[in-house]
Amino acid sequence: MITLPRGKAEFIMGISEEEQFDLWLKQNSHIIGIAVVGRSNVGKSSLINALFGKHTARVSNTPGRTREINIFKFRLEGADEVPLPDYYLFDLPGYGFAEASKQTLKKWNNLMALFFSFASHNVGLINIQDARHPDQGTDQTFYTFLKEYDYESILVLNKIDKLKTQKEMNELKKQMPVLFKKYKFVKQIFYLSAEKQTGVKEFHDAVVNFLLKKTEINYKV
Ligand code: GDP
Repeated sequence: MITLPRGKAEFIMGISEEEQFDLWLKQNSHIIGIAVVGRSNVGKSSLINALFGKHTARVSNTPGRTREINIFKFRLEGADEVPLPDYYLFDLPGYGFAEASKQTLKKWNNLMALFFSFASHNVGLINIQDARHPDQGTDQTFYTFLKEYDYESILVLNKIDKLKTQKEMNELKKQMPVLFKKYKFVKQIFYLSAEKQTGVKEFHDAVVNFLLKKTEINYKV
């Protein structure tokens, strides 16, 4: 069984300057990986930690504290007989933080524009939203932004443990075809709880399959 490494994703650097990021993306235009983005406080760090082990990303209760793009490198485990490449994880800064200044917003926009213009299409975008109320204003704004770029995305609806009744769960399921129809670039939707680990295994396997598929196409393993 091939898995993501636990506790072994190597932090490479945090980038907040456009010039630096531009250079990095151009020097690394053929990499394979995933990028994770979502509204602040939606559970992005918790999800990264659920996939890669406890201390990979910082879990913070202060919305919008992580304004840098954090880049990690990792190898898949359980495939020793096949020479697999290094993979990359991009922890992208959260959007939709209430107290952000105009300058901060501009910086976010510029960094994200760089990312979606130059990141290889072998990097899968994972967008996290809140399962209790997906497609909120700031999520919609992000998708309007994303529509400008030809980029496919996986939508993760997190915190399903907060849906207490079957009725709430059914409401969420009903929204899935609506979201697929509204956002054509969303190719898969998962609902899970990063905190309680519900549904994380299925999502983990989808991430591994994505990475292996891209590897097969690019390296003919
Ligand atoms: P980030 O700002 O998007 O990185 O979000 P964090 O991972 O720091 O999480 C924000 C808050 O939501 C923290 O208090 C987490 O404990 C909580 N949280 C994250 N995932 C879940 C979840 O699946 N269920 C519940 N109930 N809380 C969660």
